[in-house]
Amino acid sequence: MRALQHIANGRPPEVREVPTPTPTGGQVLIKVLAAGACHSDEFVMSQPSEALGIELPLTLGHEGVGVVAELGPAASGVEVGEAVAVYGPWGCGRCHTCTTGAEQYCERAGELGIRPPGLGAPGAMAEYLLVDDARHLVPLQGLDPVTAAPLTDAGLTPYHAIKPVLPSLVPGTTAVVIGAGGLGHLAIQMLKALSACQVVALDLGEDKLAFAREVGADHAFASDESAIEAVREVTGGRMADAVFDFVGMQASTVLAPRMVHPQSEIVVVGVGDGAVPVGFLTMPYNVKVRSPYWGTIPELHEVLALARSAAIRVETEVFSLDDAPTIYERMHARQLRGRAVVVP
Ligand code: NAD
Ligand code: ZN
Ligand code: ZN
Repeated sequence: MRALQHIANGRPPEVREVPTPTPTGGQVLIKVLAAGACHSDEFVMSQPSEALGIELPLTLGHEGVGVVAELGPAASGVEVGEAVAVYGPWGCGRCHTCTTGAEQYCERAGELGIRPPGLGAPGAMAEYLLVDDARHLVPLQGLDPVTAAPLTDAGLTPYHAIKPVLPSLVPGTTAVVIGAGGLGHLAIQMLKALSACQVVALDLGEDKLAFAREVGADHAFASDESAIEAVREVTGGRMADAVFDFVGMQASTVLAPRMVHPQSEIVVVGVGDGAVPVGFLTMPYNVKVRSPYWGTIPELHEVLALARSAAIRVETEVFSLDDAPTIYERMHARQLRGRAVVVP
């Protein structure tokens, strides 16, 4: 079969011929219908693979949707031909944390060498994907595969970041979303659909700001120093109740503490060289700072249900497997709108 592989650090990924896997034990083979491209792929390709503990070549793709093609001899719970979304942050399934459905925080994944598809295990940007266990498959139930694939990460990750903050986002409050890309454009829609807050988006470039407004942001401003005064103005001086940073670089993490009021929340989702320093001289009193990772299995069910209700809409740009390497050039140049999805 053909697969998009990360071959070496700093080199663009390549489409290569690899053996089609056969499911053993409880594994399930999926025929891939769609696989989303995440900015984290670019991060992985830019870092020394040894530092990340990743063996190369690596088939990319951690947002996968497909149909069940074949079951391993011990696999059960899914039927051949069933359309499914793949829950990517695989855990051991047995530790205390995994039993709550939060497999992304598995207590034993490191020790057991369990890696997510596309981030250590062979990923979804291929004709077939091997899934370790049927518990990591969630029925699509009528969702379109192309728009559903990004829901498994670009949807699930912001949902997991936003959900704990929802009770405080009452009428009169403000949430700031930094970075209106794959994750951010869904974060904006989720905040509008699930809370009464006003949503302010920050990004770079008029096209991105227009896109943020199109998907529901009440205001969109350039992501620089001037954003602090802009947030002050649209909140009547009160500042934001929550900041969701989908960039995670110094340029964004320096802004967040200056846009909140006491007891607000700063959620750093973007993976970059930025950090939010916590201390009495760095931000207002009692601000909570978190860096959540991906999401839980129950939350993936909730995100798919939210999409079925049409409360959120995934903006996609579709690419063939052959054209997939160009996705990362366009991502780097910040030219993508919403999520790039590969249809093998
Ligand atoms: P993306 O490339 O689709 O979107 C990034 C957006 O940020 C773009 O619109 C870009 O114009 C904008 N941007 C860049 N610099 C900016 C700045 N200084 N201020 C404001 N906006 C800026 O990326 P994505 O796939 O949505 O991923 C976003 C980030 O989240 C990445 O760092 C990715 O690695 C990370 N991520 C984290 C998790 C997690 O579990 N924590 C999961 C998935 C992705
Ligand atoms: Zn991702
Ligand atoms: Zn576990």
